[in-house]
Amino acid sequence: MKEFDLSILTEPLLEWYEKNKRTLPWRECVSPYRVWVSEIMLQQTRVEAVKPFFERFTNRLPDIRSLAECPEDELLKLWEGLGYYNRVRNMQKAAIQVMEEYEGMLPADYETLLHLKGIGSYTAGAIASIAYEKPVPAVDGNVLRILTRVAEDDTDIMKASFRKQVELQLMEYMQSEAFVGKSPADYNQALMELGATVCLPNGAPNCQECPWRELCQARKNNSISELPVKAKAKQRRIEKRTVFVIRDGERVAIRKRPKKGLLAGLYELPNVEGHLSQEEALLYVKEQSLSPIRIQKLPEAKHIFSHVEWQMQGYAVLIEEPEQIQSFLYVEAVTSEQLYAIPAAFAAYAKFMGIKIGQERFLDVDTSEILLR
Ligand code: SF4
Repeated sequence: MKEFDLSILTEPLLEWYEKNKRTLPWRECVSPYRVWVSEIMLQQTRVEAVKPFFERFTNRLPDIRSLAECPEDELLKLWEGLGYYNRVRNMQKAAIQVMEEYEGMLPADYETLLHLKGIGSYTAGAIASIAYEKPVPAVDGNVLRILTRVAEDDTDIMKASFRKQVELQLMEYMQSEAFVGKSPADYNQALMELGATVCLPNGAPNCQECPWRELCQARKNNSISELPVKAKAKQRRIEKRTVFVIRDGERVAIRKRPKKGLLAGLYELPNVEGHLSQEEALLYVKEQSLSPIRIQKLPEAKHIFSHVEWQMQGYAVLIEEPEQIQSFLYVEAVTSEQLYAIPAAFAAYAKFMGIKIGQERFLDVDTSEILLR
């Protein structure tokens, strides 16, 4: 990052944080495990949305041992709606490693944490600093945004080399004489908090509220709207799919996804590639050795993953009770809501099963309005 004296930012930042920090569940009863869970959840979802997930997850799995021993289906169910399911799978692998090699305690050492599955420099820094007060940085998108603005640095923040450079600069500063007596936990959380609540990612930042307003080079030179510089992400691949809500009265057909690939190991509504006409959809159902009684077209929906966008159309199909166990699993709607992790990609169609999945259950919003075109 551009030559900039980081030490001049610290006092105003910590004073501001002391007065403005939010009360958050993971900031009460701080433990390495709780910091870890919250940081992984926060990498993918807003603070407000994470709160109920965090409470539910840590109530059911209060420590590393319970996470290490949790059956996979239940683990995925607890994560349902948060997306990026590999993250929770990696957490479990790391928890098993911690049980075997560190007597169930997450290590305090930054470098050792980096060797655990799924823990990168940001998470290692967050655990070591917030839970153990180690002077190491935790650099996420918020931190990159506020530092490039305050220093008026126009390097592309998507470059891994730039992130590494910022981490090294912060590491050097946090381990220098100038930082002695300061709390690494407060410092890192204050940086994140400023990015999340004042120097906002979308829309205009609240510079009037900012403790750095007199120091900020981007504000001084009127370049805030140009920073941070972010190379455009690759365009998402569009995938058309047809989704089936197949019911035989009370029960609905679901199936388990393959062990590898997108949404691996989760449950889903049957679906096929392409947009099928009503006749083609009926044929598909018959090919599964099912006897359709009625078919109804459902509204279109879309779901955005990091690299793919699903554009879906759906059919609700009422069938005669299947004579033998077919390729699908037939479950009562309420059972599927309680036991089977169905990814949020199907939220728009899950309501035709009479269930809510993922965030819908926690946030009292009708995601169908968001998802349906
Ligand atoms: S003064 Fe404005 S642009 Fe600069 S760091 Fe603060 S909120 Fe961000």
